[in-house]
Amino acid sequence: MAERAVTGSRIAAYKAERGFSLTSEPAPRREADTKLSTEPMFVIQKHQAHRAGLHYDFRLEHGGVLWSWAVREGPSLDPADRRIAVHVEDHPLDYASFQGRIPDGQYGAGTVETWDSGTWKALEDPEKGMKRGSLRFELRGQRLHGRFTLARVRRDARKQEGWFLIKGHDEFAWDGVDALSLERDIPLPTNQKQGRQRAAVAKVPPASGAVLSSLQAVQEPQLCMIAETAPTGAGWVSEIKFDGYRLLVVKDGALVRLLTRNGRDWSARMPSVTEAIANLPVQSLLMDGELVSLREDRVSSFPGLQAALKAGHDDKLDFYAFDLVHVDGWDLKACTLLDRKRVLHGLPIWKGMLRYSDHHPGEADAMRTNASRPLHFTLSQSAPRPGRYGASALLQIVPSKPIRHYHLG
Ligand code: MN
Repeated sequence: MAERAVTGSRIAAYKAERGFSLTSEPAPRREADTKLSTEPMFVIQKHQAHRAGLHYDFRLEHGGVLWSWAVREGPSLDPADRRIAVHVEDHPLDYASFQGRIPDGQYGAGTVETWDSGTWKALEDPEKGMKRGSLRFELRGQRLHGRFTLARVRRDARKQEGWFLIKGHDEFAWDGVDALSLERDIPLPTNQKQGRQRAAVAKVPPASGAVLSSLQAVQEPQLCMIAETAPTGAGWVSEIKFDGYRLLVVKDGALVRLLTRNGRDWSARMPSVTEAIANLPVQSLLMDGELVSLREDRVSSFPGLQAALKAGHDDKLDFYAFDLVHVDGWDLKACTLLDRKRVLHGLPIWKGMLRYSDHHPGEADAMRTNASRPLHFTLSQSAPRPGRYGASALLQIVPSKPIRHYHLG
């Protein structure tokens, strides 16, 4: 894998200011790129510094380092708030997971805790934006979502640059909601505060084709494309398609993410689901499934799901897992779907709200015909070949409507 260079950037300033034998903050290093995320990360660290006082360090991953700003008042969701953000030295990527105490006498002495984390997406060329002094981007975090702008207001070679951090006008803008109210109203999962644990790795591959790999920080869900005709013949399995919210469930040590199809992390919105996942007896996990509300007749109800979430009753919901991408250090994307489902079914996790979505061999049409009650949807994926997560095909049938096909891209 390619080496990731941390030299040649403003990381030298980070290194010069710190005694790494005295502080537990990470030293810059060259390392193999084990992070396979498709989107760069962002992190906000609440820094109670003895000398500089309380501030929020806002960091965006770019080019192998963390671009960093110190935001005195913390971020706000109110577009009317212009938060002064002092541009500071680049930090190494490892700094994103640093939490704890910086010893007295060291640069930034005080305490650091994660205040928000997730991924960011530049809306314009970020390199040019940094030169020009204007960065427009989207955040997908636990507390912060949607568009933000960082705009440079002062450029002085002798002093640190002053920028403004401003929330953009979008559906996540919220008048009067600042860092303090976000902190009060959206608690981070308690486990996240304890930091990430090293994943334990089982020695034996769980299935043919499994490869040792760290858990990807971001995994796109298999998405659907429409096709015209139904496939026939062997190589297909059928499942009930529930009417709920598709979720990618990620457990990485103590860290839990519940990612929607848009990549939003809903773990803060669904504390009961988050807790159920956090307590699973596996170190690392990435599974695909559907969060549903079941009626008395066991048919999933989308209005019921929305009502439960609105009322804060996510403990009343069920999560049906239908695919497994990663477990305990093994990446299963190259395994066949049937192998992935076998490993998924064999995990010691099926209790409470967690349910395994079983499949039936054969064609979806037959399953629909033989079903004792009308199915909302039936879903099929090619089984033996090639089976790769993200590359196999998915078929969706709507009863009493023309058959529609979806292929996974
Ligand atoms: Mn700081």
